Amino acid sequence: MPFWSPPKPSLRQRLSLGLGTMLVPLVILASGAILSFENALDSFYHHEDVGRQALFPLAEVEGLLLDISLLTYQPEGSSTITLETFRQKSQAIDFNLGLILNYAKEEPRSYQSIRTIQKQWQGIETLCYQFFDEAQPRGIVYTPKTQAQLGMQLRAILQEVQRLNYRLIAFQNETNIDHAELVRERVRGLVTSIALLALVLAVLCAYSLSQSILVPLKSLEEGVEQLGDGQLSHRIYLETQDEFAHVAQMFNLMAAKLEQTQWDLARLATLDGLTEVYNRREFNRWLGVEMERSQRHNQFFSLVMVDIDHFKQLNDTYGHQAGDLALCEVAQLLQREVRPGDIVCRYGGEEFGVILPKATTADGYAIAERIRLAILESPVILASQQKITMTASLGVATFPVDADTRERLIQRADQALYAAKHGGRNRVHQSGQTVPTTL
Ligand code: GH3
Ligand code: MG
Ligand code: MG
Repeated sequence: MPFWSPPKPSLRQRLSLGLGTMLVPLVILASGAILSFENALDSFYHHEDVGRQALFPLAEVEGLLLDISLLTYQPEGSSTITLETFRQKSQAIDFNLGLILNYAKEEPRSYQSIRTIQKQWQGIETLCYQFFDEAQPRGIVYTPKTQAQLGMQLRAILQEVQRLNYRLIAFQNETNIDHAELVRERVRGLVTSIALLALVLAVLCAYSLSQSILVPLKSLEEGVEQLGDGQLSHRIYLETQDEFAHVAQMFNLMAAKLEQTQWDLARLATLDGLTEVYNRREFNRWLGVEMERSQRHNQFFSLVMVDIDHFKQLNDTYGHQAGDLALCEVAQLLQREVRPGDIVCRYGGEEFGVILPKATTADGYAIAERIRLAILESPVILASQQKITMTASLGVATFPVDADTRERLIQRADQALYAAKHGGRNRVHQSGQTVPTTL
């Protein structure tokens, strides 16, 4: 026995554990789905922000260019955009174009467009400084030629900005769709893996639970079937320590009791209560069995009837208890003297029948003679240390030479026994012999 063995859970504990474990995959599935959706939404919002960040500077650039375009409409003598404000707007445009360029790296067409805008802007910047150069030293503000050129270039750059805006929005949409698909695939993959994991866990749990129920149930079912078929020695051994093991234990106890009862009943039904050799009913049954066997194998068998001489007198002299003791002693002696396989029965009163399978007339006679001598030489010793010497008369008949039916064989053996009595007792008489055998 091992020093320590892990505690074995009961069926109720195993069921709770199994069902609990089966819930785990569901919890994993639910939380995994929620987390992956949240993760997808987060990344989506983050992605959206990047798009917006790119579009905002572009809108800023557009606004600044529109401000600068006021230079082309400036009426004579008034100037809403000074050289100073122009410089600030110019710096802001450069800064925002830098931001957009950084973003547009990912998309070649937008990148190309922003490079064009940058080139166009350089031209406009140069033209604007020229405008300020021309206007201020000469004290005039109206430079129609430069303004016209500037207006043309500003229209061109604004058109390009518009185009870039569309491209960026389209790119943004494409990227969003791609990203959405990516997220969808990721979520689908995640949910599928978790669902598979949950399924595998559920199947494993269900299998383990079914095994822990079906295996002992099968053993119990088999046990009940065996018991029903009369196999009272069948026992159920389960390795668990659960409710099934308890039922198996009860089953084993019940089977043991049934077996014991059956054994007791069999003893009562077949053995003689006093001498514990076979009773008269078994004597008849065994005779039938032996007769069939002898007929089937074409063999002899002999029957010896043994009757204790003057037994009434023994009873009268020493009492019935002494008589009972004598009967038991003779029964034991008979069992000792015969061969294994020979059948000793109490025929009734102080008379015994001994069935000798395969014994011929000569064999039967020899065994009967051995019994007679043994009885003669084995006195019964009473509690008072008194010795009672007994004798017996024996009649032998052999199947099938003396008789071919059970009743006639008993009759022949009985007749031989009476012949022995009449011949003077303490002797063996062989059926068919006219002259009694003498000592
Ligand atoms: P015989 O030599 O002619 O056989 O004379 P017997 O006295 O042996 O025969 P009988 O038939 O006259 O007497 C048989 C006696 O056996 C009578 C009966 O009380 C006694 N007996 C029968 N069964 C038992 C028993 O179980 N115990 C005892 N103590 N005596 C029994
Ligand atoms: Mg007698
Ligand atoms: Mg008798």
